Amino acid sequence: MKLAGSVAVITGGARGIGLATSRSLAAAGARVVLADVLEEAVTAAAREIRAAGGEAMAVAADVTRDEDVQKVMEAAVHRYGALNIVCANAGIARDGLMLSRDQRTGRITRVLATEDFRAVVEVNLVGAFITWREGARRMADGGWPGLLLVISSVAQDGQPGQINYSSTKAAVAVWPKIVTGELHASGIRNIRAVGLAPGYTATEALKDLSPDTVAGIVKNVHLGRLVQPEELASTIAHVIENDAIDGTTIEVNCGTTYGAWQRAR
Ligand code: NAD
Repeated sequence: MKLAGSVAVITGGARGIGLATSRSLAAAGARVVLADVLEEAVTAAAREIRAAGGEAMAVAADVTRDEDVQKVMEAAVHRYGALNIVCANAGIARDGLMLSRDQRTGRITRVLATEDFRAVVEVNLVGAFITWREGARRMADGGWPGLLLVISSVAQDGQPGQINYSSTKAAVAVWPKIVTGELHASGIRNIRAVGLAPGYTATEALKDLSPDTVAGIVKNVHLGRLVQPEELASTIAHVIENDAIDGTTIEVNCGTTYGAWQRAR
């Protein structure tokens, strides 16, 4: 698959990994459609990419809404005449322990709210599903070379404090196997499906963590640092151009060992 000239939809494109990926694909000649709930930020992001000589458009959209995602895919096909890459990147976290115990009394004083579980499932799982489905159906009908991408996480191993987030990331990590199996059975050969599971990455999503927490995280990382969003963007560019990568989730995490470490304790 050729990156130059291809048409890519990236959800959550206003900032972080989605913005880095949009910049990088546009710099390599892709035409990029950035979708995000942050309307001003996503509009500014597309403008910045165009000012740098790239081809980009922004669409304000909430990935949990069927009609918004349909609007994004239609905008891509209408404006650029094809749809080749769909990256379901939009995601949120609402961390918390399922049970929080008062150390003094031993009583449970707080629980993770159902709303905080549901909200994360809605964006990370249902939203990503709608994104893949609406992208895949157009790629299948259009017959264009296609790639479905989803962003999982190192949390797919089961991160304490993230029962909601980890559940969604473990779930999407198996989608490439499921969807390539379905496409294979249907005789659809033009669409690949791949997951990317990043380690802790230096984006706005980590801004609420204290320096101590970040130091604690990187202590369990072989390279002793966070992943840079540009390192994920370059992995995505490689996946696009390497047709042999299909039906799998790739980990890019600077050697995060926390999964094994947690289990060994
Ligand atoms: P981020 O918070 O910086 O960016 C996420 C973007 O998604 C934001 O622009 C946000 O507005 C958008 N978004 C949220 N809900 C949306 C919705 N309903 N509809 C449309 N857009 C929506 O996060 P990031 O760090 O760039 O993360 C991007 C993806 O990578 C997420 O799926 C995240 O779970 C995953 N990830 C992040 C890390 C990390 O350490 N930063 C690690 C592993 C995986």
